[in-house]
Amino acid sequence: GATIGILGGGQLGRMLAVAAARLGLKVHIFEPSANPPAGDVAHRVTTASYEDHAALTAFGQSVDVITYEFENIPTSALDLLETLAPIHPGRQALATSQDRLIEKTFLQGLGLQTAPFADVPDMAALDVAIASIGAPAILKTRRMGYDGKGQSRIKTAQDAPRALADMAEAPAILEGFVNFTHEVSVIGARGQDGSVACYDPGENVHQDGILRTTKVPANLTASQRTDAVLIAARILNALDYVGVMGVELFVTPQGLIVNEIAPRVHNSGHWTQNGCTICQFEQHIRAVAGWPLGDGSRHADVIMENLIGNDMDRLGDYAKTDAAIHLYGKAEVKPGRKMGHVNRIFRA
Ligand code: ATP
Ligand code: MG
Ligand code: MG
Repeated sequence: GATIGILGGGQLGRMLAVAAARLGLKVHIFEPSANPPAGDVAHRVTTASYEDHAALTAFGQSVDVITYEFENIPTSALDLLETLAPIHPGRQALATSQDRLIEKTFLQGLGLQTAPFADVPDMAALDVAIASIGAPAILKTRRMGYDGKGQSRIKTAQDAPRALADMAEAPAILEGFVNFTHEVSVIGARGQDGSVACYDPGENVHQDGILRTTKVPANLTASQRTDAVLIAARILNALDYVGVMGVELFVTPQGLIVNEIAPRVHNSGHWTQNGCTICQFEQHIRAVAGWPLGDGSRHADVIMENLIGNDMDRLGDYAKTDAAIHLYGKAEVKPGRKMGHVNRIFRA
C-alpha cells in the first residue's frame, strides 16, 4: 500500500496514523523531538530537525504523499519536500494560515467578516493601530501562536507599551475585540476531485486560551448553521484545498466572524471520532491519499472534553461512564498539556 508522510508526531499525527492504518496505509512520521505520541502507532519515525536536509530528503523519498499536523513548518523544508512528493494541503493554505496578517487579509478578500485588524511592526504602528481600531483589542504575534500563546490583551491605550514588550519583538497584528456570544467551528474537508463535505458545526468553550469542550449540535439557528458551512466551503474552494480544515468562528448578532483557519485536523473536530461514521482523521487521510471523501453526517449528539494536565487525575471518573476515552500516550503530565480527550455520546 501507499505510504503517507506526516510532518509532526503529536496527538494529531498519532490519530491520523491510526486512521491511516485502518485504511491499510503505512505512515512515516517526521518529528524533531524524541518519542513522539505518533511514534507508538506509526510504521516508521524519523527523528531529525527541519534543518537536516539529508533526513528530509530521505523522508520525502520514502513516502507517496506528505501531510502535516501543524502549520508552522519552515519554508525551507517545504521547498525541499515539494520536489520529492505532493504536499496536501498545499502551499497556499500553509502560507495563508501561518501568518495572521495574510490570513485576515485573505479572508476579507473573500468577502468574509473578520475582527478589524491592523499591522503592527513596531511601537509607533501600535499607537496608530489603537487610534484607528480602539480598545479593547488583542495584540497577537503574526506567526507561531497557538493555545492563546503570543497574545496580549489591551484594555485601554495605556496598556500598549506592556503589550508590545510581551510580544518579544515579533511582528504582530492588532485585532479589535469581538463581542461574541459564543464560539463555533466548522471542520470541513475537500477532496482532490474538488468535492466538499463539512461536519456539523461544534460549539467551543476555551479556558486559559486552551480548548476545553466542544459540543454538537452548536447553539445556532438553521440559517447560521448554513452560513457557517458556506463560509468553510468558500475558504476550501478559494485555496484549492485538499484535506481537512478547521474554521473558527465567532457568533455575534451581526453575523459570523471568522477568527482563524487551521490547515489540518482540529481539536474541535475530535467529537467526530464517536459522532460520525467517518471521523475527521479518516476524512483527512482519504483526501490526501486521493480517495473519495466519506460521509461526515452526524449520528449522535456529542460533548468532547479535553483532558489537560492534572485532569488525568480524574481519569477513573471518566472510565466509569460511557464516555469514549482517547489518550495520547504522553509520558509526562504538564500544566496545559493536552493528554487526551473523552467523547460523551447522547442519542436523540
Ligand atoms: P488556537 O489554539 O485555536 O490555534 P490561537 O493561539 O491561534 O488559538 P486564537 O484562536 O486567535 O489563538 O485566540 C484564542 C481565543 O482568544 C479565541 O478562541 C477567542 O476565545 C479569543 N479571541 C481571539 N481573538 C479575539 C478577538 N479578536 N476578540 C475576542 N476574543 C478573541
Ligand atoms: Mg490558532
Ligand atoms: Mg484559535
